[in-house]
Amino acid sequence: MIDKKVLEATLEVAIDYFEDLESRHVGPIKSVEELRRDLAMDLPEKGEDPLEVIRDMAVKADGGLVASPGPRYFGFVTGGAVPASLGADWLTSVWDQNGMISLSSPAAGVVEEVVSSWVLELLGLPSGSSVGFVTGCQMANFTCLAAARNHVLNSAGWDVEKQGLSGAPHVNIVVGAEAHVTLINALKMLGFGTENIRYITADGQGRMIPSELEKMLSSCNGPIILSVQAGNVNTGAFDPCEEIIEIAHRYGAWVHVDGAFGLWGKLNPVLAAETGGVELADSWATDAHKWLNVPYDSGIAIVARPEPHKRAMAPGYVAYLPGQGEKRDPSQWVPESSRRARGFTLYAAIRSLGKNGLCEMVERHCRQARLMASLLKEDPDIQILNEVVLNQVLVRFRDPEGIDDSGFTRRVMSHVQEEGTCWAGGSRWEDSDAMRISVSNWATTDEDIKISAQAIRRVLARLVE
Ligand SMILES: *Cc1c(COP(=O)(O)O)cnc(C)c1O
Repeated sequence: MIDKKVLEATLEVAIDYFEDLESRHVGPIKSVEELRRDLAMDLPEKGEDPLEVIRDMAVKADGGLVASPGPRYFGFVTGGAVPASLGADWLTSVWDQNGMISLSSPAAGVVEEVVSSWVLELLGLPSGSSVGFVTGCQMANFTCLAAARNHVLNSAGWDVEKQGLSGAPHVNIVVGAEAHVTLINALKMLGFGTENIRYITADGQGRMIPSELEKMLSSCNGPIILSVQAGNVNTGAFDPCEEIIEIAHRYGAWVHVDGAFGLWGKLNPVLAAETGGVELADSWATDAHKWLNVPYDSGIAIVARPEPHKRAMAPGYVAYLPGQGEKRDPSQWVPESSRRARGFTLYAAIRSLGKNGLCEMVERHCRQARLMASLLKEDPDIQILNEVVLNQVLVRFRDPEGIDDSGFTRRVMSHVQEEGTCWAGGSRWEDSDAMRISVSNWATTDEDIKISAQAIRRVLARLVE
């Protein structure tokens, strides 16, 4: 059976990594070229000692690792892994369950059942919704939009799962001007065609403008799928859901919410004005590997109507209804068949944090984002481009020559990354470059925010001189 020494050696590598995590250079220190030189080898003819393989791989990969589970990584929107969830992730591999159907792992199915009801309760979504556990928000968007496609075409007398898209009634696809690139990708994979997507104008924070939506919808014939956003990846802003969903439902649209991280803003009562009405939609996509701090990869697809969800996903068009006392077969709700038993990490994360701990974490990150913004703003050469409502801070640096803020921002950013105290990545906002800081890691302290703000200002001061 398994060599205990391999597990012990892995534990040792893991502990070394964590002991070093807070103090190490946050970005990678080796180039891709160097990593290729270290890691590449001819296809091994003979097998090697597993202990050696693990240890050597860890040494050679190290310089190319990003300290993204650490407290001063602010790139993209990246959660860390709360300890219980990391432990559960290890066990998921140790147990190596096939989370396909109840028969292949009853425990995997039951844990998903439990987590489903917890997630719906936490996020205040309709308790009868069906839930699928996928790899991330892109696949959650895909899954939800497939359910939407089934439903709106079904209502128009067309069975897309049987008849396909060729010759089907035209479906109006409407999204906000600021729709996330993965949402567009999901629509592309579903055969809607990117050229058919219609965009609604957004305001200065990236929020969809309701009157523009009304204008667009009143010109649509036939079925409509509308996708709104809870949490803009740059500004953190929410589309005004209450108003928008009311309008969209008047036109018979299916409303999908891309809430990769923003949906968790539901846990912060201060954000009630932003998140209000989100629960009125027909489907929601979110991530667990972002704000819930579950290890990669973990996303959640939630659909208010289980029937179209199942019709779109279940293999062989098994249209039997859920909730009739049968066991949960996880793969009925997701694109995959054989799959990782994804529920365990979520189960452990939610149990170890509890509702209170989760609310506290979300509130803390929103507060820390404001702290970061206020510390940076003390420097007159730093502009904060967004209203910091959530956990996102969008930053631009003033070019001392007064010529090219965008180019100068890119320069400051690459120096910040090189300096290594923290890591933040780039984005585009209003046709210019910006640096985006996302506070999403459970372990980030106020001190981490202060140290990082100081480092950014230090780097800027050196470049301005
Ligand atoms: C991150 C993100 C996604 C994509 O999520 P993945 O986990 O990368 O698949 C979709 N929408 C929004 C708003 C996001 O922030």
